[in-house]
Amino acid sequence: MDKVKNNCGDAVREILNSYLEQNNYRKTPERFAILDAAYSFNSYFSMQELSDRLVEKNFPVSRATLYNTVRLLMNLRLVVCLRLQDGVRYKACYSDNNCTQICTICGKVTEIKIPEIAEIIDKTHLRRFRKEGFSIHIYGVCSTCQAMLTRLKNKENTEKQENINKNKYISKYGKRQS
Ligand SMILES: [Zn+2]
Repeated sequence: MDKVKNNCGDAVREILNSYLEQNNYRKTPERFAILDAAYSFNSYFSMQELSDRLVEKNFPVSRATLYNTVRLLMNLRLVVCLRLQDGVRYKACYSDNNCTQICTICGKVTEIKIPEIAEIIDKTHLRRFRKEGFSIHIYGVCSTCQAMLTRLKNKENTEKQENINKNKYISKYGKRQS
């Protein structure tokens, strides 16, 4: 199994390990393989992509094991789930004290750092609650999609103007155009 990319492999494995121990669950190699595979992605992944990656690593698991383990990882806050325009996506989120901006048109996700927010949350006292992390999603439209929308709008306006001109011509000269 490849080493996880974001250098928190040992920490996340330890979280899973102690959870399984405390709850008397079996420490199956499948669960750790799924955790490692989830943390081998640099960004969001679908359940299918996760399954494919496990196959690539010669560690195929059943659909049920995959779903159950991902649900467990979500409960442990090691993985988050997002509903994007093209379906549900997952992401490794350990020490995910950051914010992401998500384009609601193409689904592109960019991570951004807003230290002010981290500071505010850090200073915020929560009643009867020990905070462990946070994540913020900012929804909007990326610059590529904004440009695409502008082009579409311009095209629509040009067509509208052409129609107006055509109608003016018809009302003035009748329907004999060209
Ligand atoms: Zn976009």
